[in-house]
Amino acid sequence: MKRLLLAAVLPAAVLLAAPAAAQLDPPAWTRPIPPVRLIGPVDYVGTQGLAAYLIRTRDGAILIDATMAENAPAIERNIQALGVRLRDVKLILVSHAHFDHAAGLAAMRRDTGAQVVAGAGDVEALETGIPPGETNYGVVRFPAVPVARRVRDGDKVTLGGVTLRAVATPGHTPGCFTWTMRIAQRGRPLDIVFPCSVTVAGNKLFGNARYPRIVQDYRASIARLAALHADVVLPAHPEMADVLERAKAGTLVAPGLLRQIVLKARDDFDREWLRQGRTAR
Ligand SMILES: [Zn+2]
Repeated sequence: MKRLLLAAVLPAAVLLAAPAAAQLDPPAWTRPIPPVRLIGPVDYVGTQGLAAYLIRTRDGAILIDATMAENAPAIERNIQALGVRLRDVKLILVSHAHFDHAAGLAAMRRDTGAQVVAGAGDVEALETGIPPGETNYGVVRFPAVPVARRVRDGDKVTLGGVTLRAVATPGHTPGCFTWTMRIAQRGRPLDIVFPCSVTVAGNKLFGNARYPRIVQDYRASIARLAALHADVVLPAHPEMADVLERAKAGTLVAPGLLRQIVLKARDDFDREWLRQGRTAR
């Protein structure tokens, strides 16, 4: 019933919202760059402004996020430039179901044959192409993509001896998942964390009928991420952790960086919560 209602209501909003939102996209989001060597089995294969991470294993590769639909050819070129055949990408892990990270999934899945793995709370959004929750910028649709595996908190995803752990960090979307993996570097264990976003980014914090738990979820996820051990932080928006600059400077190993990013996000969240609360109540 709820779904039928949404299906009937959304298309008009989509038509109105999509062009305006498209004009606001930063040019760096679609600016191609060559692949960037990161650390251990992880390379950066995204654009200047939107991250896609490739993790090579002995049984094929794992891709984290696909960014925007028009970026698929650039990401595919980067994967191939690293000597990985597209059909050797076996899994595509999703951070969350927003167009800037998920719109390229359908094309990447088609071209690689990989299985899409995503947080259970975002599966409906991914499979309909309609983002979850309500925002102040309307509804920006993206190509729908079938999800082969839905993960819950603590689930592990393994390929070729590499294991990623799914950490539920809902709020930004209901199925926003942080992925973590441990590598050994010169005999020392390093925790690599791919944090899901905790920015408000236009999300409606009050009266969000499609996501009533949003504020509780944000607060719990911010606390959880602030306490998570991370030696290397690789977010979906690379500038949040200066990923490309750090890669160049050799300073990707930065314990304390995740906590610093998350505490800043918490301040921003509190400010935005107060601001929206003044107008909503
Ligand atoms: Zn997002």
